[in-house]
Amino acid sequence: MKNFVPLTTRRQLLLSGLAMALLPAARALAKTEPASLPAQTRAARPAGGKKIVMLDPGHGGIDSGAVGEEGSEEKHIVLEIAHNVRQQLSQHQHIEVRLTRESDHFVPLAQRVEIAHQHGADLFMSIHADGFTSPAANGASVFALSNRGASSAMARYLSEKENAADKVGGIKVQSDNPYLQQVLFDLVQTDTIKNSLTLGSHILQQIRPVHHLHSQHTEQAAFAVLKSPSIPSVLVETSFITNPAEERLLGTTAFRQKIAGAIADGIISFFAEFDRRNHRPG
Ligand SMILES: [Zn+2]
Repeated sequence: MKNFVPLTTRRQLLLSGLAMALLPAARALAKTEPASLPAQTRAARPAGGKKIVMLDPGHGGIDSGAVGEEGSEEKHIVLEIAHNVRQQLSQHQHIEVRLTRESDHFVPLAQRVEIAHQHGADLFMSIHADGFTSPAANGASVFALSNRGASSAMARYLSEKENAADKVGGIKVQSDNPYLQQVLFDLVQTDTIKNSLTLGSHILQQIRPVHHLHSQHTEQAAFAVLKSPSIPSVLVETSFITNPAEERLLGTTAFRQKIAGAIADGIISFFAEFDRRNHRPG
């Protein structure tokens, strides 16, 4: 069996260690509070050096996410797609998929990131099927975190919308952002964002043959759910539920399986690239 190397580079480990030591927010991420979490989130790393993929079906419970003209709710569609990705990766020897939510319930954004940390995830992917004010908007996009501005108006619009999910659930978002914390976070996250962009390009490459792309490149925006300092994280908008044609597609098992298959293949090829890089001689 092939010996898998952990995704985090030495530099990243040092940087995230630094962040954990200095940042209350990062400490909160690393803290384990078994009593407040369901049993599945206490699960340890799997045997055999498997990579852990944390899939995050967007929204849930009181937060239905975007709603299509026909009444389809984003929260149900993305949960099905996530289950599908897990099913398609279940035969993979070196990958184990876990979910931030298994059913229709509300999970605050920060807790989604915390769950990924508690599982020691090697990769985090939030799955969405979002909406826009114009029904014409269509196609899939992939986002990575940006510490600066959003890379496009659409990226800004969607990140504001996704970040508002916590307001729906009545969670007060704390904004303790002193200058030093910001500088450290930027430093630590630079490496992680680089890996997230690589992950994004692998996902886009697999979606391209099966579905129209809204944006050809991984976009960057300040999605709260992508803010892990050490886990490569992307948010996939599988399509626009507010586009009538895409709402119909999302309602079919065939399309959901196709998108899930592309996501699964993208995850496999991302890990393969990482292993090639880590095993490069000299
Ligand atoms: Zn969404």
